[in-house]
Order: sequence, then C-alpha cells, then structure tokens
Amino acid sequence: MKHELPKLPYAYNALEPYIDAKTMEIHYTKHHQAYIDKLNAALEKYPDLVGRPLDELLIGLDKLQVEDADRLAIRNHGGGHFNHSLFWKILDPANTKDELLIKEINSSFGSVDEFKKQFTDSATKLFGSGWTWLLRNNQTSKLEIKNLPIQDAPIMNNAFQPVFGLDVWEHAYYLKYQNRRPEYIENWWKVLKLI
Ligand code: MN
Repeated sequence: MKHELPKLPYAYNALEPYIDAKTMEIHYTKHHQAYIDKLNAALEKYPDLVGRPLDELLIGLDKLQVEDADRLAIRNHGGGHFNHSLFWKILDPANTKDELLIKEINSSFGSVDEFKKQFTDSATKLFGSGWTWLLRNNQTSKLEIKNLPIQDAPIMNNAFQPVFGLDVWEHAYYLKYQNRRPEYIENWWKVLKLI
C-alpha cells in the first residue's frame, strides 16, 4: 500500500488572516504531496518496506536494508510526509488548550511566555530550511526546544517524540510574508490553540 495524503481536517482559509488560503492550498496539495510521491518512489524497489508504517521506517531509519541514496530519500521525503501530517493537526482551529502540556511548559521553561520567547528565538535563528520543535527527549523524558534541519523527523532513529513544530521553510510563508519570517512566527502563535 502506498503512502497517501491525509485529509486536511479544515478548509484552506480556516487559518486566515495569519496563514492565507493560497499558501495552505499549495503547501498541502503541492509540497506535502511531493514528499509523499517521492517517498513512494524511493520505496518502490523494496517490496518489504512498501507496507511498513511511516513511523517504523523513520524510527529504524539507520537499520533499514536500503542503498544510501534511498535512505536519504526516505529521510527527506518520509520526514517531510511525517512532519507535514503532524503540522496540519497541530494547526487545527478546533484544537483547545492542553492544560497538562501548559503545566509542563511552566515547570520546564518558567512560563508559557518565556517558552514562546525561546521557541521564537530558535525559529528566527534557524539558518536555511528546517523546523523548530518542542520535543520530548526519549532518553531524559524532558521537553526541549530544538531546530532540526531540512525535513528531519523528530522520531528519526528514536531520538525524540514531537509535541509540536513550526515549519520555517520559506514555502510555508513566502506568499504572504516574503522575507518577514519573524512576522510569520509571531502570527503562527495566534493560530496555535494548544497553549
Ligand atoms: Mn512545509
């Protein structure tokens, strides 16, 4: 079974005015779809991997019996599929405040405001294309803010569990914000209902 684009649980304009409908449509139907298509293409010559769940492929990435070029393709495009699938859920306008998470953020970072400041700073400074994440470290169980490059999935090689992440690739904001990444980040907090 091939990997498929998951259904977007809301309309393209649901995050207006902060994330515009055109960006959402292109991001979802073009960028996310392209990761899926390229992941499927990379898996084609490995019939035993075709039916494997995406998280299994990424958690065990270094142990997959594949050629190096295909491992890189699974890392990039499988990661892209994983990250974007999560991103749409994170931004669901039907989400409500996660009180348990807020409590843990308070104890880990001092306050939600301080956490947002640190996360924003990290996202602003991320050089090139990548994601800023709130992650749970699988070894320490602690929350961490971390920038991951390109489309590296947090679960890759069983390092982290994602809590939520911000896509800071230019394709996520360029139509509306052009080079103004800080403004995109500031407005992104307004669509995130979880904290
Ligand atoms: Mn993206």
